[in-house]
Amino acid sequence: MRITADLHIHSTLSPCGSLEMSPAAIVRRAAELALDLIAVTDHNSMENGFTAAALGQKSGVKVLFAMEAQTREDVHMLCYFEDRLQAERFNRHIYELLPDTPNHPDYFGDQVVVDEEDNIVRHEEKLLLNALDISVPELVDLVRRHDGLVVPAHVEAPPFGLLVNLGMVPAELEGSPLEIACATPQARALRDFPALAGHPLLRNSDAHFLRDIGRARTVFSVPSPTLSMLLAAAKAGTFHAICPETHG
Ligand SMILES: [Zn+2]
Ligand SMILES: [Zn+2]
Repeated sequence: MRITADLHIHSTLSPCGSLEMSPAAIVRRAAELALDLIAVTDHNSMENGFTAAALGQKSGVKVLFAMEAQTREDVHMLCYFEDRLQAERFNRHIYELLPDTPNHPDYFGDQVVVDEEDNIVRHEEKLLLNALDISVPELVDLVRRHDGLVVPAHVEAPPFGLLVNLGMVPAELEGSPLEIACATPQARALRDFPALAGHPLLRNSDAHFLRDIGRARTVFSVPSPTLSMLLAAAKAGTFHAICPETHG
């Protein structure tokens, strides 16, 4: 089967995410766009993602448990899970690694936890857009110990791309899928960062507004949309990435 996926979407919980990005609105928009699989990847937190996953079950859009973690080296890493208990354990662990810096909503933006009906549950007090006390190799290990999949985000893009900050792909991620930013032409990314060769290069929208959901996506050919099958399809090259560059 063909699975159309946008696995990098921010909600109201990300200080940079628009307040229109409630879990319900994201899932509704994904269904309108006929996306099969999405991930709500807020900075260092899955809380709204759990709500989106529950809503997705009712509307036929599969929602992975996910976040965009920021390592000590200021590298953004997408972390995906299928098992809710493992995801909850990982989420709690990450929260402990987040510095106790208060958010200043006027400067960074609001961090709003929202329920299935768009009601505000609470405002997250700790600043989520911050570096965790964990390195890239330690995070890779932590995700895998929770049966998750880690995909470095927008690897070629400053200021938070893996290749921009480390200048190389660490051994733990050899042959792993990598995300390149939605607007970067693939040829340019490969020219600027030869280390990308040999890695499956995925695309997602990194949407912060509803209109941007699905603007870049990856279509996988898989028997079923499980994390292990997606990883196998990425490594086998049985996927294609769609981005503004390719659909004009
Ligand atoms: Zn990012
Ligand atoms: Zn992002």
